[in-house]
Amino acid sequence: MVRFRAATKGTSIARRRIRTASRRARGAIVLLMLGAACTRNLHLLPPSPTAAATTTAGPWTSMIFAARTDSGVFVIDLGWGRASSGLRDVLAQIDADTADVRYAFLTHAHRDHIGAWPSVAHSTFVMGRDEVPRFLGDSAYTGFAPRIGEAINDTHHPRAEEITIHALTGDTAFVFGRDTLRAFAVPGHTPGSTAYLFRETLFAGDAANYGALSGFRGALSIYSDDVDASHASMRALFARLDTLEARVSTLCTAHAKCAPVDSALRARVTR
Ligand SMILES: [Zn+2]
Repeated sequence: MVRFRAATKGTSIARRRIRTASRRARGAIVLLMLGAACTRNLHLLPPSPTAAATTTAGPWTSMIFAARTDSGVFVIDLGWGRASSGLRDVLAQIDADTADVRYAFLTHAHRDHIGAWPSVAHSTFVMGRDEVPRFLGDSAYTGFAPRIGEAINDTHHPRAEEITIHALTGDTAFVFGRDTLRAFAVPGHTPGSTAYLFRETLFAGDAANYGALSGFRGALSIYSDDVDASHASMRALFARLDTLEARVSTLCTAHAKCAPVDSALRARVTR
């Protein structure tokens, strides 16, 4: 009898602990989803009327940034979910449409950042050289989540003959009249990951990340081919930016989380 009561007490304590842990886990998941789903400090981006950003539908709020320059219109990343309508909306904010887009700069070619490629198939797609076979579907990512995603549902890739690609083999500057967009190789999250600096904003792709519980940090291992390489790439990138004496006021992740750049943020996104 005593033993039975003791066992019952032990069991109910265990059940309570499981319920508490499960409540905490659910809370953490909700916080993580909220953190992933909301934008952060998008007002820090280059201002309208010559630049605009939007997030596309879907659980990960992938960002599309569009800019009008003296030498035409370009976009950085192409969203996911309702990507084509998101692209049209953000272009309308700079008084442009898809036909005006000259360049589509990709931070990388994970499925959640290339959704609207068919809408700008006439443009020149710019990406790191090692990203090209992944964008075309000729080579697969090795990161855990991208592999699972691909196993569940194939990504719609372009064929090489239907688009024009400018493959970056190193840091590159693109001059658009009075504007310059600089591209920097930051391999790791994916082999051809690239960060872009435009009007003092560093578009870091998924080489930087934001979580509701963790704040800003570097690439996450679950989504990355080589997370250590990504962190090293971000450290090397900041060293190059310092050497160039480049002005970098804001950093934005590819999931629309932005922050002013200071030494604390630099330390966070390089580890
Ligand atoms: Zn990614």
